[in-house]
Amino acid sequence: MRTLFDHQPVNDSFGDSALYVDFRDERRGLLIDLGDIRALPPRKLLRLSHIFVTHTHMDHFSGFDHWLAVVLARKARVTLHGGPNFIAQVEHKLRAYTWNVVQRYAVALGIEVLEIDTDGLIRRARFMSSTAFRREELEPVAMVQDVIHDEPTFRVRARFVDHEMPCLAFSLEEKAAVRVAPDRLAAMGFTTGAWLRELKHAVLTNAPGDTPIHVEWNDQHGAHAETRSVDELRPLVLDVAPGERVGYVTDLRFTEANVQALVELLAGVDTLYIESVFLEADAAHAKRKNHLTARQAGEIARRVGARSLVPMHHSPRYEGRGDELVAEAVAAWGGRPPDQKV
Ligand SMILES: [Zn+2]
Ligand SMILES: [Zn+2]
Repeated sequence: MRTLFDHQPVNDSFGDSALYVDFRDERRGLLIDLGDIRALPPRKLLRLSHIFVTHTHMDHFSGFDHWLAVVLARKARVTLHGGPNFIAQVEHKLRAYTWNVVQRYAVALGIEVLEIDTDGLIRRARFMSSTAFRREELEPVAMVQDVIHDEPTFRVRARFVDHEMPCLAFSLEEKAAVRVAPDRLAAMGFTTGAWLRELKHAVLTNAPGDTPIHVEWNDQHGAHAETRSVDELRPLVLDVAPGERVGYVTDLRFTEANVQALVELLAGVDTLYIESVFLEADAAHAKRKNHLTARQAGEIARRVGARSLVPMHHSPRYEGRGDELVAEAVAAWGGRPPDQKV
């Protein structure tokens, strides 16, 4: 089924953590984790509206400077989400540079930073290039049902897991999606266009049947525009399908409390990206390092009921042996082998 998101790790499984989430048909993207992201072309970095950071170990946050250098003077607004102390950490990054000419840039950059705290409060601050990134405090908001970001088409939920420090696990959730039958569209003489999004939104929000939809489309005869009601267009709708859910889990210890938190956040998730840092043979070492073995990652995927599994964040000590880590995780999960996406 066609989904809202197209998700792809930025690096191979031995590289730094970062998941790029592209919106199909929109010039927009999300990023989960901000490690080494130099593999992303500037046009993809410029599309980012929101960046979600699990924790600020260097392999998850050192890409901040590269990102900032690319978007500065070219992008107007971005929101960064992170865990405890995140606002101060972003501020320290910004304070490390000299900003004596940044006020003159034609496009002013506003960075809104959301700090999710373990007490369920989301603290907020803004840094504008027009004021040399002086910190502005914004009103905090309370987190409700793990939701840290909400839009008409998707939401992002988060839970803390223990990595000898609080670390965020994310669930990216497409809301129910309306599917349109292409043959019915053709039979009515229409082609796709932005108006379809308007219709889908009207159907999902149960808008009244006489709500007007401005149908604008192009075909070989040129551009057309008509106004039709939701009821007139409703026969185009094939069905309303549940949206896709993507889980992103790194870094964490293997504890029962962590497994429980993940079951609550991610039960039945469609795709689970999860760290598989060490082989089970090195479980004692994994424990000392506050990381999972591949077998433990697979066990979490099984208990969560993940439908597809992507093991990631392999230790460099296994370079050339990625297949073994994946095989160990998949065996413990017990489901289909992962898509060979990378
Ligand atoms: Zn870490
Ligand atoms: Zn890490």
